[in-house]
Amino acid sequence: MEHLTCQSCGLPFTKESMGVNRNETKNEEYCIGCFDKGEFTDHSLTMHKLEVKLVEMAEVHNEITLEEAQIVIRELPYLRRWHMSIM
Ligand SMILES: [Zn+2]
Repeated sequence: MEHLTCQSCGLPFTKESMGVNRNETKNEEYCIGCFDKGEFTDHSLTMHKLEVKLVEMAEVHNEITLEEAQIVIRELPYLRRWHMSIM
């Protein structure tokens, strides 16, 4: 199965969970959790909030390992959504 990396939350996603553009086409850069109907679902999201969320996913919900969370956190500044906000 082809894995894509969301350019917002840094998590891998599949074709089934691709984001949706305003014209209903699929968006290959963002997952549906981050991007729907042509815009980000959470406009107030910041890299810091994502870091907290990723650690929670690992420590509280066991959805990912702490190691995976740390790898994603390290990559966050290079993702398209956050890279632009630094510039
Ligand atoms: Zn995402």
